[in-house]
Amino acid sequence: MAHAVYISGKWREGHGALISNHCPATGEVVWEGASASLEQVEEAVVSAADAFRDWSRRPQADRTAVLEAYAVEIEKRTDAISETISRDMGKALWESKAEAATMKAKVQVSIAAQVERAGSKNQKTAFGSVHLTHRAHGVMAVYGPFNFPGHLPNGHIVPALLAGNTCVFKPSELAPGVAALMAEAFEAAGLPAGCLNIVHGARETGGALLNADINGLLFTGSAATGTFFHKHFAGRPEVILALEMGGNNPLIIWDPADIEAAADIAAQSAFLTTGQRCSCARRVILPEGSFGDDVVEAIVARAKSLKIGAWNEEDIFMGPLVSEQAAANATEFQAMLSKKGGKSLRRLKRMDRGGGFVTAGVIDVTNAQDIPDEELFGPLMQIVRVKRFDEALERANATKYGLSGGLVSDDDALWVRAHQEMRAGILNRNRPTAGASGAMPFGGPGLSGNFRPGAYYAADYCAWPQASQVSGTAERMSAQGFPK
Ligand code: NAD
Repeated sequence: MAHAVYISGKWREGHGALISNHCPATGEVVWEGASASLEQVEEAVVSAADAFRDWSRRPQADRTAVLEAYAVEIEKRTDAISETISRDMGKALWESKAEAATMKAKVQVSIAAQVERAGSKNQKTAFGSVHLTHRAHGVMAVYGPFNFPGHLPNGHIVPALLAGNTCVFKPSELAPGVAALMAEAFEAAGLPAGCLNIVHGARETGGALLNADINGLLFTGSAATGTFFHKHFAGRPEVILALEMGGNNPLIIWDPADIEAAADIAAQSAFLTTGQRCSCARRVILPEGSFGDDVVEAIVARAKSLKIGAWNEEDIFMGPLVSEQAAANATEFQAMLSKKGGKSLRRLKRMDRGGGFVTAGVIDVTNAQDIPDEELFGPLMQIVRVKRFDEALERANATKYGLSGGLVSDDDALWVRAHQEMRAGILNRNRPTAGASGAMPFGGPGLSGNFRPGAYYAADYCAWPQASQVSGTAERMSAQGFPK
């Protein structure tokens, strides 16, 4: 049984409901423990509030040094982190290794971002000077999704701590294991006890954290959960909410482009991490005619021959979906699209080996009616064929989300239009939609978030600005009509 509660630097057993996580490839139980109870969640928040007093007042250089030491400790644990993530949620080891590397890299990026976006500034004036500095909010609740269970919470926790906040982290119940390795790395780096607390559990634990005395909530997960959180905090502007949510992302492929290259970019956009990336392309929009036909054929060929297996099998491109339930949801979603008139070009099927294993699917929904504007978090690509580029742009923007999008085309003029007209926070050209730079902000309009992008801009939501006019001595004031 794993200890599910980490408060003031000590692990303890939880007092809440028992939760277990199964490896989606083998079905074995890989994490099991009693979740944090409501009282334990409150205690974790009190511990973070106590630690805040000292941590927020430390010189920036001290906090930066602890975070730099954390990066070193993360690197030492690369193998443990990547194997734990893969076993917990099924992604291929090559992907988990990249995730561990990103966790380390996050530290330097966050330090640079903080200096640039949330640092201090002084300016001389006639009366003395004006100063800008930034202050931490207090206790930040951090909620992570299962698909990047290390990188994404880390992407909130690192900038939050750097700015002087303290955190209570509720890991995803579908990928809980990596949190203990993060705590271990922080401890080894010298982070004072109480600055990072962890409360494992599912919705009940998450709900208790929502109702505790927190100053901010940093969330990455589905639009449904993020919207629920947004409603929960309605009328409480004093709580900072940073919501990073999902997308129904479009990729337009247009002549001229190399057919094989276009198919590579589309297939990687849709099927990386078994379609479980928020930035995966869900809808691929192509012109009618032979160019579009050839690209679709090449995409289907790739969907047929992707190597699928357990995380530790040689040479695999993608692992299973996170759970059997997720596999069932994916086949149901596909059946719904077929019912509405979609034509399967390659079926997403559950594989004989069971668990969360599914094959990659491609379905043409050009003539389907009433397709819901929903994110299916799995390897199912919807194809839409159109006559004109204008129509492609219109279809691309026909979503209430706005996370990622892309254009595959060698035509510069088309890129100028797509760049100007596509409504997506991550908009790539001739690159998979699922690729993003850590040195850039990450987020998008619409239902994809609340305009508090993460990654390079995370510094913005981790601190509030304090502007001061300063005069060394008190001087008499004068103004028209004011007594002398
Ligand atoms: P999820 O919303 O189901 O869960 C995220 C976290 O919220 C988990 O810790 C979960 O326990 C908690 N939670 C869920 N419902 C809750 C409730 N009612 N009360 C309290 N806590 C609750 O998301 P997921 O399935 O783990 O992750 C996949 C989703 O995340 C996809 O929609 C994907 O697009 C999105 N995502 C977004 C980004 C981004 O940066 N925009 C990145 C990765 C994933």
